[in-house]
Amino acid sequence: MSATPLTVYLPFNRDAIGQEFEPAKGAKDTPAQEGQWILVQEQGLVLPAGDGVQLPAGPMPKGLVDHAGAPFWLGTWKGVPVWTAAVPKGVPLPDGYRRETLVPMQNTKLPDDLLSLGGMAMQALWWESTSGHCPRCGEATTRIANEWGKKCARCHYEHYPHLHPATITLIHDGDRCLLARKAIWAPGRYALVAGFVDNGESFEGCVRREVKEEVGVDVTDIEYVGSQNWPFPSQIMVGFLARYAGGEIAVDKEELEDARWFPRDQIPGTPSRHSIAGFIINHYARKERTKA
Ligand SMILES: [Zn+2]
Repeated sequence: MSATPLTVYLPFNRDAIGQEFEPAKGAKDTPAQEGQWILVQEQGLVLPAGDGVQLPAGPMPKGLVDHAGAPFWLGTWKGVPVWTAAVPKGVPLPDGYRRETLVPMQNTKLPDDLLSLGGMAMQALWWESTSGHCPRCGEATTRIANEWGKKCARCHYEHYPHLHPATITLIHDGDRCLLARKAIWAPGRYALVAGFVDNGESFEGCVRREVKEEVGVDVTDIEYVGSQNWPFPSQIMVGFLARYAGGEIAVDKEELEDARWFPRDQIPGTPSRHSIAGFIINHYARKERTKA
């Protein structure tokens, strides 16, 4: 019996930074506006030019001061304040700076700790850009003390950063598993079945519904594997294994181009070390090997 690990060390999960990060939200005093900078432009981090992956340090880089959005303090990493700000699309970077993508599918070169810090910053910036007004009455909101949440001055509605839960499932049947592909994907790419949790739905209910809707089969023995925070812009991906229980493959042609069974040792493409999908596939392979 293989136990599911208590902590999933995937990039974008805060666990990947370990104990070295203290979030700003509960702190009494805001430090001076310098330290390390998570400057986000078009899902990438602004870094000093060269091959290194160090964050800009000191005050905000000259040349961006007039262009970046209002900076705010994200937290303290390894004892140094980390500040974040959005750099609008199209703003040219000053000499001596470059941009490195945060997107795993674009072959990011960032290490896991910077992906996780960058992901938190992206979500915080997204929240700032979408929470300035009350979603009920439209009045301007103010920050709730020691929280990321915002409160409406008029109707007192409080809201907190919105994470959108989605399930992602590997359907297996002994030594084979069922994968699906979208027409827009690169030829040969197949992936797990994923979808957003609906109102009133449990994670298990979401798995059963998404699998039935997208590929037409029934599943049982739904087993939680792990989860990953996915900041593009604000999902939490919850990973499962589900055992095939019957039915013929019937592909939802609005969503997918094809779905088919693959032998366990012939899953197309190498699972990415960055994604929960790879984590789930590896978990399944390990489990099957243990059985054999
Ligand atoms: Zn309101």
